[in-house]
Amino acid sequence: MISELTKSVEYLKGIGPKRAECYEKMGIKTVYDLLNHFPRNYIDYTDPVPIGKAPVNEPCIVKGRVVKKFPEARIREGLSVYKAIFTDDVTDLVIVIYNSEYLFKQLEPDKEYYLCGRITGKRVRKEMNSPIVLSADTEEKIQPVYRLTEGLSQSMLRQTIRNALTVFNRNIYEPLPKSVMQENSFCSLDYAMENIHFPKDMHACELAKHRLVFDELLVLQLGMLLMKGRSRDRSGCVLKKVDMSEYYNSLPFKLTDGQLGAIDDCINDMQRDFPMNRLVQGDVGSGKTAVAAGAAYFVYKNGCQTALMAPTEILAAQHYDTLKGFLEPLGVKVALLTGSMTAKQKKSVKEGLESGEYSVAVGTHALVQQSTKFSDLALVITDEQHRFGVEQRAVLASKGNNPHKLVMSATPIPRTLALMIYGDLDISILKELPKGRQPIETYAVTGKLRERAFNYVRQHLDEGRQGYIVCPMIEENDRELQDVKTYAKKLSEGDFKGYNIGLLHGRMNGAQKEQIMQDFKEHKIDLLVSTTVVEVGVDVPNATVMVIENADRFGLSQLHQLRGRVGRGQYKSSCILITDNVNEESVKRLKILSKTTDGFKISEEDLKLRGPGDFFGSRQHGLPALKIADMSQDMDVLRDAQNAAKKIIAADPLLEHKENSYLRELVDKLFEKKFIRQLGKCD
Ligand code: ADP
Ligand code: MG
Repeated sequence: MISELTKSVEYLKGIGPKRAECYEKMGIKTVYDLLNHFPRNYIDYTDPVPIGKAPVNEPCIVKGRVVKKFPEARIREGLSVYKAIFTDDVTDLVIVIYNSEYLFKQLEPDKEYYLCGRITGKRVRKEMNSPIVLSADTEEKIQPVYRLTEGLSQSMLRQTIRNALTVFNRNIYEPLPKSVMQENSFCSLDYAMENIHFPKDMHACELAKHRLVFDELLVLQLGMLLMKGRSRDRSGCVLKKVDMSEYYNSLPFKLTDGQLGAIDDCINDMQRDFPMNRLVQGDVGSGKTAVAAGAAYFVYKNGCQTALMAPTEILAAQHYDTLKGFLEPLGVKVALLTGSMTAKQKKSVKEGLESGEYSVAVGTHALVQQSTKFSDLALVITDEQHRFGVEQRAVLASKGNNPHKLVMSATPIPRTLALMIYGDLDISILKELPKGRQPIETYAVTGKLRERAFNYVRQHLDEGRQGYIVCPMIEENDRELQDVKTYAKKLSEGDFKGYNIGLLHGRMNGAQKEQIMQDFKEHKIDLLVSTTVVEVGVDVPNATVMVIENADRFGLSQLHQLRGRVGRGQYKSSCILITDNVNEESVKRLKILSKTTDGFKISEEDLKLRGPGDFFGSRQHGLPALKIADMSQDMDVLRDAQNAAKKIIAADPLLEHKENSYLRELVDKLFEKKFIRQLGKCD
């Protein structure tokens, strides 16, 4: 990068160490960072409305002049009100300013201004409280509004960014290859920079934004493809074709086409001389475990080992049971390894893995993070992919003899997003559920119907079924934990007196959780009161009813995941969503769940309604934060960027060509060189 742009913001006029600190709080260190601090939105002063026609209580722009200023009125200690009469020569308006004498003083009688604010009051006496004031002779009729932090003001930021643009204009560069520029008829980067900050008109602003969103998504996608490419140059464990019929014949059911296809994809991948990097995506209940077992069987027949990692101990234990059920009759030895096992148990399992006695190891992260050695590890499977980030995938790549990798995700993600998040992976999708599944009936009700909901649950329990009551929490802090404990106690003494109630929450240790899950599986527990730890993959076919409290606090996809805990057996199942938040949007959202059971559709809706936050929630995917692109809004650009990235990488797999040098720098900057370095380590 041109060195003048990488200088500290202190290099700019008007910024000393103090202010630089404020900028740093927003993640802005260099002139370049500042240029990439894009406006949150804009105030467009080009089309003021007549005061008489301005909408009430909505933001609007009016133009006029100050005709009279009243003296300061001190309402009480610390509260002064300044008023002025403002007119567009047809209608008058009272400007009301609280406490800011400075702002008030700026208003000069008879001078023309734009005001931006909300008009309140009756027709005869319109008021505008604390408007944003702009002198009418200003040339920049569209004003950027920036995200701020304490110690900075909009006008300061505007001025500083102006100065940064001057530096940029001395150092204009163009990161995009000519072909990409032409194909997409993009505006130049300098035009984009100027017009994203100080748009000449809204059209110019759109052009600029389009270009910059593209740049950002392109760089992100290039980074993902680069990772994929990196893992490709190193050879993995090349496996041979084997007879799989024994596996297929031994299963208690016929695999779906999707399952067969996914297993085939894996088998093909693992016969090549670079590691498999595959994602199997399938809705809850689509049967991903049977795919994993198939892949593990293929590896076993090749005389090698498979490790399967799950995000929780419960899941690990469950997968262990399932894999054992599928594979042990075929002579495959399966081991369980989790953090909560005793040192002695762990030691014995580890010895068995190192000696090759076990062909499959199922466990939590501890499995690969600790000093576990394998005699011949050829495949690493991670379940419930959304809990693992891109970074963790990169770490995994360094384990063993560069094994094949299979990840399984139950979070249906819109395809475009999946390509972005999992751009480093090939994808197999399980489209259909196994035949004969009955859809889970879902109802959204308010707390007033809680009694009836509980009644309904009791009916199920009385018929010999089991149920869940889920109290989702955003964070499991002590207070909320107390809540769920109290809640469970209340239920066991009240509505569910006489039933066996179990409690499951995130603060329990692995052994405790497992015990509870085991008891639930064995039907020692009728009703399981749980936080969202039960969310992922737990399989108890006799459970047929679920009540979710505070349902509105969660994303649709997450609720869909949760309800996937029921409806896993032959019985008709139901899910009741309780919410006391009856605003229109929340009701509309929950209704979607009653209408459809298609996880992909639900995730598309979620994306539309809530934005990609849920998919990128707490940066679970480990993707770098984006500055301007919004995946839910910019899908088309995302597609274009993906296509362009593919072409660029096809012609220059490591981004080494001179014309791509800026792009390469931007990739390194966006990913903070993290992944690339990590991958480098395992060479
Ligand atoms: P998920 O994709 O949610 O991980 P699982 O692998 O847990 O789904 O499978 C859900 C249930 O469906 C399990 O009880 C499993 O035995 C069963 N199952 C898997 N594949 C099939 C199939 N092809 N036909 C019938 N049942 C199946
Ligand atoms: Mg599963």
